[in-house]
Amino acid sequence: MRRLTQPKIVLASHNQGKLREIQPLLAPFNIACVSAGDLGLEEPEETETSFAGNARLKAHFAAQAAGLPALSDDSGICVDGLDGAPGVYTADWAHTPNGRDFTIAMTRVWEELEAANAPFPRRAMFNCTLCLAWPDGHDEIFTGITPGHVVWPLRGVHGFGFDPMFQPDGYDQTFGEMLPEQKHPLSHRADAFKKLVSGCLS
Ligand code: IMP
Repeated sequence: MRRLTQPKIVLASHNQGKLREIQPLLAPFNIACVSAGDLGLEEPEETETSFAGNARLKAHFAAQAAGLPALSDDSGICVDGLDGAPGVYTADWAHTPNGRDFTIAMTRVWEELEAANAPFPRRAMFNCTLCLAWPDGHDEIFTGITPGHVVWPLRGVHGFGFDPMFQPDGYDQTFGEMLPEQKHPLSHRADAFKKLVSGCLS
């Protein structure tokens, strides 16, 4: 496993929700980070069919473009009653001609569960795969999950993406009802990040 020795990395994401969660996780390590958006880098098309494949694609693209190690996050929600969909296509389900609309994506998840007469509780898990890639082509991959179930109607105004639809196991609130300081330590992102820390940072 390669350790990160450089003092600066690129966060290979244009998603403000993810950036808000990843930046505080990196803060204790004194690693300066700049986002792909701040560097004016393009967002590569996510053409792979797995979280790891898309995480690799985004991290290598940013590492090559910036000449710095790059950390990417590919994530999504996998719903048991939909055979794991939307999964790697979670962001695509929110696509509209005017940008992403996650209320549309969450409505589709619930309607498809209803159409399938899926049993309750409607189990789901968030998955996060982090990739740390270096400009020489090396990379390390870490995966985290949060198990739970999806709810309807949507609850809560915090967070981003599918947060108002997802209730993690052991809690009565959805991620959308939790304050950031409640959600972040429980999240799939924090779970993957712990593995990144023990592999590459500590
Ligand atoms: P991608 O990684 O760019 O393919 O996008 C993943 C999508 O999954 C995001 O746009 C969000 O909608 C959703 N997602 C990932 N992590 C979270 C989370 O922590 N809360 C809510 N939605 C999430």
